Formats: sequence, structure tokens, C-alpha cells
Amino acid sequence: MEKHCISCNKEVTNDFIKFKCPSCGKDMNRCIDCRETSTPYKCACGFEGP
Ligand SMILES: [Zn+2]
Ligand SMILES: [Zn+2]
Repeated sequence: MEKHCISCNKEVTNDFIKFKCPSCGKDMNRCIDCRETSTPYKCACGFEGP
């Protein structure tokens, strides 16, 4: 199953962080690039965070 970065929507394979939305608990993936640059993300539930 393909995973995509929540911030930049790039396909991620090995170099990504998995975390849960603080608001709804949904699993999200974020690539290393976006993690290091604290790129904003927006969850499907509407939560936005760094
Ligand atoms: Zn990214
Ligand atoms: Zn959420």
C-alpha cells in the first residue's frame, strides 16, 4: 500500500515518520524533508499543525 506525506503529498517509502493526529488520532505519514522543515500539514478532520 502506498503511503504519502501529509504535508507535500510525495510518496514515501523508508524515510518517513508515522504519527497520529492530535485531534482525531488518525495515522499520518510525513517525509523526513517536511519533518525537518516543519512544513505545515492538515488532517482530514480539519486539524492543522506543524
Ligand atoms: Zn513531505
Ligand atoms: Zn485529524
